[in-house]
Amino acid sequence: MIDAAYNIETIRKDFPILSREVNGKPLVYFDNAATSQTPQQVIDVIVDYYQRYNANIHRGVHTLSQEATDAYEEARIKIQRHFNIAKPHEVIFTSGTTHAINLVANGFSSFLKKGDEVLVSAMEHHSNIVPWQMLCDRTGAVLKVIPMNLEGELIMEEYHKLLSEKVKLVFCNHVSNALGTVNPIKEIIDAAHRAGAAVLVDGAQAAPHIKADMQALDADFYTVSAHKMCGPTGVGMLYGKKEWLQKLPPYQGGGEMIAEVTFEKTTYADLPHKFEAGTPNVCGGIAFGAALDYMNSIGFGAIAAYEHELLQYATEKLLEIEGLKIYGTAKEKTSVISFNIEGVHPYDIGTILDKLGIAVRTGHHCAQPIMDFYQIPGTVRASFSFYNTKQEIDGLVEGVKRAKTMLL
Ligand SMILES: *Cc1c(COP(=O)(O)O)cnc(C)c1O
Repeated sequence: MIDAAYNIETIRKDFPILSREVNGKPLVYFDNAATSQTPQQVIDVIVDYYQRYNANIHRGVHTLSQEATDAYEEARIKIQRHFNIAKPHEVIFTSGTTHAINLVANGFSSFLKKGDEVLVSAMEHHSNIVPWQMLCDRTGAVLKVIPMNLEGELIMEEYHKLLSEKVKLVFCNHVSNALGTVNPIKEIIDAAHRAGAAVLVDGAQAAPHIKADMQALDADFYTVSAHKMCGPTGVGMLYGKKEWLQKLPPYQGGGEMIAEVTFEKTTYADLPHKFEAGTPNVCGGIAFGAALDYMNSIGFGAIAAYEHELLQYATEKLLEIEGLKIYGTAKEKTSVISFNIEGVHPYDIGTILDKLGIAVRTGHHCAQPIMDFYQIPGTVRASFSFYNTKQEIDGLVEGVKRAKTMLL
């Protein structure tokens, strides 16, 4: 049961966008897995930054620059604490998960040779497939896939069989954005380490629901996008173990990432600045910290319990619709439901739902291999957040029924 202290009405009031209308209907926002909405507390931090202390950081002697630098570095510490990261300089600010993954994939070019193997899971986001394919093209390493079953769970026996001394890297998401599956990430990491491979965990879809502990998980890299957890777009985190970050070459050259530059030779700045070339998204970084404060003020335990109840309720109600099939029925799931109605294109359902003010995602969700696996063009995906309600889910179920009658 949901904690009585969980006050959904108060929480909803924090999100101004939730009181707007779409097509003359109250907005029902069920596209949280693509991006989450922003509470007033975070919007205030963004406005305050531009009204009071907008400046470039780490460079100026003046007060504004000092204040902006302090706030930005304070946000780094908030991120460090939230994910229980050992050292603040193991937190690299990036523009998001995609940037973080490319940074690592690029750096690994120098560590891989022909015949080495790289494992990715069958349920990755394109941003966790394409950079590795590019890496394998550059190095001659071979990309192999950890298969999944029809429920949308990784087949762990196959994973253990794939691990050998040839495998240098394993890439896996903590939670699948298309199916909501929570992967047994600790087992994946420990087994990879026993085989001598490094592990990058794509945490973009997990971070809004699960407070991951970096020291307990022991992943070598972990990536997060702030915009999926109440923060702004264009900012995120790459966590990397210090030993790896020291070994990896810089990704981009520019200002801020150097120690000394002459035309003959440049030496690089210490961590984290080595990977933070150019002027970063200062305001975004500060707002990312505020978003973590906001989510922690509600509490990840309360969020998980509430969202689980929404997931169960929606699963039950949707399955009452004849011809509706849910893709991704893993035992461990976050509040994501991917579904189709037999004989109807997902896009058409999404369009009708939009007319009713209900925002869902349709298509392949940047995970085409999953769609190929199920031999479907795409799905309708409804993803719930801690600010959604059962009444909204009732509206979704009614909307899907209506779409079905209109389209069949
Ligand atoms: C959203 C998402 C990404 C990409 O994140 P960006 O913020 O677009 O860089 C990668 N992996 C997963 C699992 C995601 O959900």
